[in-house]
Amino acid sequence: MHLILMGLPGAGKGTQAEQIKEKYHIPHISTGDMFRLAIKEQTELGKQAKKYMDEGALVPDEVTNGIVEERLAMKDCDTGFLLDGFPRTIPQAEALDEITNKLSKKIDYVIHVDVPVEKLLERLTGRRVCPTCGATYHVVYNPPEQEGICNKDGAALIQREDDTEETVQKRLSVNIEQQKPLLDYYESKGVLITVDGDQDIDKVFADIVEKLS
Ligand code: AMP
Repeated sequence: MHLILMGLPGAGKGTQAEQIKEKYHIPHISTGDMFRLAIKEQTELGKQAKKYMDEGALVPDEVTNGIVEERLAMKDCDTGFLLDGFPRTIPQAEALDEITNKLSKKIDYVIHVDVPVEKLLERLTGRRVCPTCGATYHVVYNPPEQEGICNKDGAALIQREDDTEETVQKRLSVNIEQQKPLLDYYESKGVLITVDGDQDIDKVFADIVEKLS
């Protein structure tokens, strides 16, 4: 199972990735997580990645493709992998083709968790966090017992700047533009699977499993 997971922010990719990883016993490889870990550990890679990530820009391809190539060559990828956050551009997709060729592997399926943009806006702008303890809530999907107040310590909940409608709109449009050519690329290769992500978490997962089988 050599898989790629695609979807816009808020589509629930992280949750599905966890379940896919467990069921198929394959490593979940998220380039974003790899960069964040490198930054935390203050490695050379972390130093390189940090300046781009801080600006919300993509880390250059030579760096990103390099870490993916190294990671996919590791032993635990022998039976497969689930890529998340990579590829993000067509040159990265082409580089991935070369990497998998070299390793005598091929991408079997690209799973697209599809959620309408209005739903994503609702999911992402509804998030509230407690400034004191960091607990997160959602005004619709996971509301606190008392509106606007943290269950744990009674502090007034806030909306992060990242979660305001304007910022979320911008983030979504950038991601839609990035993702579209990749969906077309994999569609034309006949490996794209689209799953309705606007359903119960378990139902989304069941649909993925069904389509993969
Ligand atoms: P993510 O957690 O996938 O949203 O990634 C967080 C950040 O890591 C992105 O905003 C980029 O700066 C960097 N990043 C992750 N994946 C890639 C990629 N495939 N190409 C370039 N930069 C990436």
